[in-house]
Amino acid sequence: MKEKIPVGILGATGMVGQQYIRLLGSHPWFRVAYVAASPQSAGKKYAQALKSGWLVPGEVPADVADLTVQNVDDVQNSVGKCTFVFSAFEMPDKEAIKKAEDSYAAVGIPVFSNASAHRWTDQVPMLIAEVNPHHLDIIPEQQKARGWKKGFIVVKPNCSVQSYIPPIFALIQAGYEVDKLAITTLQSVSGAGYPGVPSLDVVDNVVPFISEEEEKSEREPLKILGDVIDGKFSDYKGLTISAHCNRVPVSDGHLACVSISFKGGKPSIEEIKKIWRSFSGEPQKLDLPFAPKQPIIYRDEPNRPQPKKDRDADKGMAVSVGRLREDNIFDYKFVALSHNTIRGAAGGGILNAELALKKGYLE
Ligand code: NAP
Repeated sequence: MKEKIPVGILGATGMVGQQYIRLLGSHPWFRVAYVAASPQSAGKKYAQALKSGWLVPGEVPADVADLTVQNVDDVQNSVGKCTFVFSAFEMPDKEAIKKAEDSYAAVGIPVFSNASAHRWTDQVPMLIAEVNPHHLDIIPEQQKARGWKKGFIVVKPNCSVQSYIPPIFALIQAGYEVDKLAITTLQSVSGAGYPGVPSLDVVDNVVPFISEEEEKSEREPLKILGDVIDGKFSDYKGLTISAHCNRVPVSDGHLACVSISFKGGKPSIEEIKKIWRSFSGEPQKLDLPFAPKQPIIYRDEPNRPQPKKDRDADKGMAVSVGRLREDNIFDYKFVALSHNTIRGAAGGGILNAELALKKGYLE
């Protein structure tokens, strides 16, 4: 690529927005050219708009520090400045998020969103690049239905599902019918943004409730694993998921303890490990810059994966899995881990944009 593509970040000052800016600092195809946040930050230089400072490793990239932060709602300001945007802003009103993201798409700026607002909107793909890359093919239908020419919206699922859906998908792809999943997540505090959960609530504690997280964990996988039929998403049938979601005193990395049962034949433990270790998707085939070499890393140590030791596997883009063993109620159980602000948010969003570019959806 001769010149890097200018991109924008909505919610650039937040936890995920900062992770986007850090990761894009060395991206071979994209450069940050537009930053937007709340009206309180608008008009300030990016470095001055960071109310709680720079929250991710390293320093604010010099070329971004001096950009003037725009108000997310002033959509016209983005025209001519960026080719597409990553959306990572938060508002209590989901309809307001939808409206803002729609406005960017309507002026010809594609949106890769981390927000939950559009996850169930018709013709909006909810993408994990290795799992359902074909869902991007619905973009022309989305544009036609809304009269958008260049703009479109692609969303990421909730960060809690990122660790266990690739391993489950790998088994389905290998021909095994997954019947039931019981999942208990142990989710880091950075998953709540900054300042997130008050320290007095989470230090020396586990909070057994994350608003709407269990519903998302039980429902979103069915869309991701489903098909596109006649321009509509059709949920994956026959899989029931039960989720407990907990906030734990860990800085980054969402861990999930998963019990799984199959309908019909079940693979052996050795076969499952082989399926996971050899799993590869379209991002790997296309050699995309943010594609982890091995999307699922199976660890044989009896006490891994652990957030502290494994969340940064392959720059935070690989899912780490371990502890596969027989279960007394289900067929098997295992533990899965992914970095919530990298693979589960900014890194995953960047990978989705790389895939959309390679598939010809971005000019
Ligand atoms: P965060 O740290 O609280 O950041 C929120 C961002 O939204 C800030 O940039 C803030 O700007 C902006 N904002 C707040 N009110 C606004 C308004 N009225 N108009 C425009 N912008 C506004 O949250 P986060 O953790 O980065 O999460 C951002 C999004 O990513 C959320 O939708 C979240 O669900 C999703 N997500 C988060 C994670 C994670 O692990 N944290 C993972 C996956 C998805 P100011 O600085 O100007 O207030």
